[in-house]
Amino acid sequence: MWIALVHPPIYDFTAYDLWLRPLGLYNIGAYIKKFTPYDVILLDYMDRESSLSPPTRVKKYGTGNFPGEKIEKPEPLKPVKRYYYRFGIPRQRMEEYMRGLETPLAVLITTGMTYWYPGVQEVVESVKNIWGSVPVFIGGTYATLMPEHASKYGNVVPGEVNGRVLEILSQLTGKKITADHEPLPLFSLSKRKSSVMTTTRGCPYRCSFCASFILHRYRKKGKDRVLSEIEELVRLGVEDVALYDDALLIDADNHFKPIFREIIRKKFPIRFHLPNGIHVRFLDEEVAELMAGAGVKNIRLSLESVEEEFLERSSPKLHLSEFERAVANLERAGYQREELVAYVIIGVPGQNARSVEKTLDYLRRMRVRPSLAYYSPVPGTADFKLLEKEGYISLNDDPLLHNKLMFPYLGYSEITEVEFERLRQKAFDIVFALHQAL
Ligand code: SF4
Repeated sequence: MWIALVHPPIYDFTAYDLWLRPLGLYNIGAYIKKFTPYDVILLDYMDRESSLSPPTRVKKYGTGNFPGEKIEKPEPLKPVKRYYYRFGIPRQRMEEYMRGLETPLAVLITTGMTYWYPGVQEVVESVKNIWGSVPVFIGGTYATLMPEHASKYGNVVPGEVNGRVLEILSQLTGKKITADHEPLPLFSLSKRKSSVMTTTRGCPYRCSFCASFILHRYRKKGKDRVLSEIEELVRLGVEDVALYDDALLIDADNHFKPIFREIIRKKFPIRFHLPNGIHVRFLDEEVAELMAGAGVKNIRLSLESVEEEFLERSSPKLHLSEFERAVANLERAGYQREELVAYVIIGVPGQNARSVEKTLDYLRRMRVRPSLAYYSPVPGTADFKLLEKEGYISLNDDPLLHNKLMFPYLGYSEITEVEFERLRQKAFDIVFALHQAL
C-alpha cells in the first residue's frame, strides 16, 4: 500500500525554477516512511529533471526555466497583456504514469500561491478519473490561507503538516500511528543534484504584505539537526542547497554563526544559496565572512524600498543604513557588489512609480542588482485586510485576482501598466549593466 504525495503544476504568466522544491512533502514523506508500513511516491509535476518532463536546460547551480505550454487566459486575467501558461510535466504524461500505479491509500497535495489553484484542480480531476474516490488531502500555502476555497478540492489540512500526517493515516486505517522523534526530511524523494532545506521556520516580523507568520510558527532548528540534514544531502550526492529560511540571520550569534562555523570546519562539498531575501540588519562582518568561507553563492538581500516611511509602516525589518553596512561587509568578505541581488517590491497598495524608480536608482548607485518582487495580495495579511476594507478585493473573489501581475489593473497601486513596463525595463537595464561590469 502506498501514499501519493503531489506537487501540482503551475498555471501562471511566468514561473522560474529558483530551487522550487516541495520541502513540506519531503517532511511528510519522512514520517510516513519511518513510522508506517506504507510506501510513498512523489508525483512532482515541477521536477524538470524527471524522465517524464520535456527537456529543459539545467543552469549552473540547478535553476532554470520550467517547461510550459501556452493556454487560454482565464477571464479574470484578461487585462494582462501576456501569454498564460501551464508549467510542469504535461498532464497526459503524468496521467499515463499514474495509470501504471495501483490505487494509493490517500493522495496528499501540497499547494503554493493562492492563484495557482488551477493546478490543484487539475490534479484532483486526474486523481478522480484514474483512482476514483481515493481520499484527497490538501495542505500548503493556498490551503492554509483559503481553506474554504480549497475545500472544494479535498480535505484541507491547514498549517505545517509534518507529523500530523500520522493522525490522518490513523483515522484512515483505524490504527493508531505515532512518532517518537522528528525524522530528517526524506530528501531522497528527489534525485536531483540540487535541493532545499531550512534552518529556521517562520519569521518574528510582521511585514504588512507577508504571510510568513500565518504559515509557520517562528522557531530555530538546533545546530546538530541542521548539520544532520546537510550530511544527509551530502550522502545523497547533492551539490547545491538553497536555504529557504525566512529568518536565517535572526539571533545570528546563537544560530547562523555556530552553524556556519561548523559547516566551514566540516568542509562539506556543497554550495549554498540564499534565494529568500535575508535580513540585512543582522549581516555583520562575521556573518559576511562566514558566508564567504562556507561558499555561499547566491545572496539575495531584503531591501523592498528606499522610502523610510514605507519601511517603517510596512516592512520594519531594516533601515537604509543597515542595508549599506551589509553590502560593505559582504564586499569586505570578498563578494563583488555586482553579484549581490536586492529585492525591490512593486505594486503595494498606494505605491507610485516614482517610489520604485528611486529605489532602482539607489541600487544602481550602490552597484547591487535589483530584483523586482511583484506584489500579490495575500489573504490574512494586514495589506489584504486594508484592501478588503477599501473595497478593492474580497475573500469571495476568484483567487486568480491575487496574481502578481494584476496590481496595475485593480486600482490599489498608483503604478499604471505603462509605468510598470518602463520600471521592468529599467530594472533589466541596471542588471544588464552591472552584469557587464563583473
Ligand atoms: S521580514 Fe521577511 S519573512 Fe519576515 S515578515 Fe517581513 S517579509 Fe515576511
